[in-house]
Amino acid sequence: MSGSKFAYVKNYELPDPLLPGTFVVFRLDGHSFHRFSDEHNFSKPNDTRALKLMDHAAEALMKEYPDIVLGFGESDEYSFLLRKSTSLYQRRQAKIVSTLTSYFTSCYLFYWPTYFPNGLLKYPPSFDGRLVMYPGEKEIKDYFSWRQADTHINNLYNTAFWALVQQGGQTTTEAHATLRGTVSKQKHEILFSRFDINYNNVDARFRKGSVIVRVEIPELHEENEPPTKEGIDDSTTVQNPVKAGKTKKKKKSAPKTQLQVLHCDIISDSFWNEHPGILT
Ligand code: ATP
Ligand code: ATP
Ligand code: MG
Ligand code: MG
Ligand code: MG
Ligand code: MG
Ligand code: MG
Repeated sequence: MSGSKFAYVKNYELPDPLLPGTFVVFRLDGHSFHRFSDEHNFSKPNDTRALKLMDHAAEALMKEYPDIVLGFGESDEYSFLLRKSTSLYQRRQAKIVSTLTSYFTSCYLFYWPTYFPNGLLKYPPSFDGRLVMYPGEKEIKDYFSWRQADTHINNLYNTAFWALVQQGGQTTTEAHATLRGTVSKQKHEILFSRFDINYNNVDARFRKGSVIVRVEIPELHEENEPPTKEGIDDSTTVQNPVKAGKTKKKKKSAPKTQLQVLHCDIISDSFWNEHPGILT
């Protein structure tokens, strides 16, 4: 390419390709959301509006990027699995991580008023993002198990912690002290004996996080159907238009899918067996 005498500086931009044929996980996490959640009065331990907003932004991202085959979210973070063979942005790392993080952040802001109609933003939230390559299916299953195990550990702690504070009248310092060194069983016991809370009955959204999968929709109701109003509650699914207005009648196109938000276990093999398409 010709250009000005300055154009050589472009050569300092080094290629940053992802390895071919590797699974790629993209994870983003809210920047300083401890503060952000305080300043915006998130309810503790779990603000459902905020979690649903995260799910909504994640669904929007998956609609925009069909090569994302799985999403998993908890708290202020979301992980996404890219198809092993994806050629998204020629597999350029910085391009992928920056564009996806930016799009998710925009969606978070775009849909904020839907979930916080009376909650003006005090300042713009941001997210960090990263990409990690994994060689095989085992690592991918273990990756998502790791995140869901983390959800469990954090939520059990937070549920016990906030019960001690909100219902038990302890200060935050006292509650931390009460829980210091306790194992999982003891936290269950504290919740049950002191606060009559059976942890297993806590909302699955909190205990399991959010899992977003693509499921095939039967051929029947295709076009001409108004798009589903997007995911304000769990049961809502979002159409996956290839591009709005561009869904011409095509023969032999890939089966149509829609996104589904689940709050299920993904650690045991049954999840992966029920969704064999994820790892292909
Ligand atoms: P993309 O935006 O697709 O991720 P990019 O940022 O490298 O990639 P552009 O934003 O389209 O590409 O272009 C940035 C600028 O750099 C353009 O104005 C273009 O003229 C210049 N440019 C792009 N590639 C080259 C090149 N190989 N040599 C010299 N100049 C280039
Ligand atoms: P960093 O910038 O390093 O990620 P952080 O303050 O965001 O710092 P995290 O470890 O990501 O730290 O934790 C996010 C915090 O945000 C949680 O500990 C919790 O206090 C708060 N938070 C996020 N989502 C919610 C929610 N839905 N309801 C209540 N609190 C939440
Ligand atoms: Mg963090
Ligand atoms: Mg964070
Ligand atoms: Mg976090
Ligand atoms: Mg550009
Ligand atoms: Mg440009």
